[in-house]
Amino acid sequence: MNNRETHKWPPALIERARTMREAGEFNRAVQTRVADDMNFDRLTLECGHESLLLVSLLELMKDPKTFTCQDCIDKWLEHEASL
Ligand SMILES: [Zn+2]
Repeated sequence: MNNRETHKWPPALIERARTMREAGEFNRAVQTRVADDMNFDRLTLECGHESLLLVSLLELMKDPKTFTCQDCIDKWLEHEASL
């Protein structure tokens, strides 16, 4: 998931999203974590979005119970940019 090619968000909007992320506003509870292949697990979050994460990263994060949802961040950015 990379909108870098198609979206150029205003810098002030990105700063707001970063502040919200720091405050944990995009943290979502992990509902399921299922092995996807040898290196990645698929996390399903409470918002319904899914994220593929490196198993080694998840181990570093000590099996997180919540995860920052990039899809929710993207939706927020799209919504705010359209106002
Ligand atoms: Zn989400």
